[in-house]
Amino acid sequence: MSGGAGVEAEAGAEAGAEAAAQADAVRFRPHHFLCALGFVGKGYSDRFTANMAAIVEGRLRAPGGAATAIEVVGRLDDICAPCPRRAGALCSVQAKIDRLDAAHAAALGLAPGDRIRWGEALARIRARVRPGDLARLCAGCEWLELGLCEAALARLHATGGR
Ligand code: SF4
Repeated sequence: MSGGAGVEAEAGAEAGAEAAAQADAVRFRPHHFLCALGFVGKGYSDRFTANMAAIVEGRLRAPGGAATAIEVVGRLDDICAPCPRRAGALCSVQAKIDRLDAAHAAALGLAPGDRIRWGEALARIRARVRPGDLARLCAGCEWLELGLCEAALARLHATGGR
């Protein structure tokens, strides 16, 4: 294979990955953008964690993942689906989830029905959520005190998501 053909094949593969990334949008409720940023392979059950890993590590953090389309929803989303705390169409701690969603939607300037690529979401988080803000935005979340999400936010500010 000539160098030119190799470059073309590479460009084709990248275009294919981008097209696939945009094909079926991931559905996120507003507070799950920051949760996805901070995800380190822990969750509420094995099924929950495997599903979240497939979304976050298998799509958002995979090569070309910045192009992944995300649809903002105001209800159960693709991360909630296998959660052991789900109670039908709601969460067993729905009032807390509503508070988290409202705080994160306001902070990110996102509303149900919006579509945004993961790379754009990272830029938006960096522009609008400062290190230290999660103590307020995520008040009541049991993962907050572990500091993993704040650490991820600090890394995003330090590296610009690269
Ligand atoms: S502290 Fe909780 S709500 Fe906030 S980003 Fe982390 S997991 Fe999500």
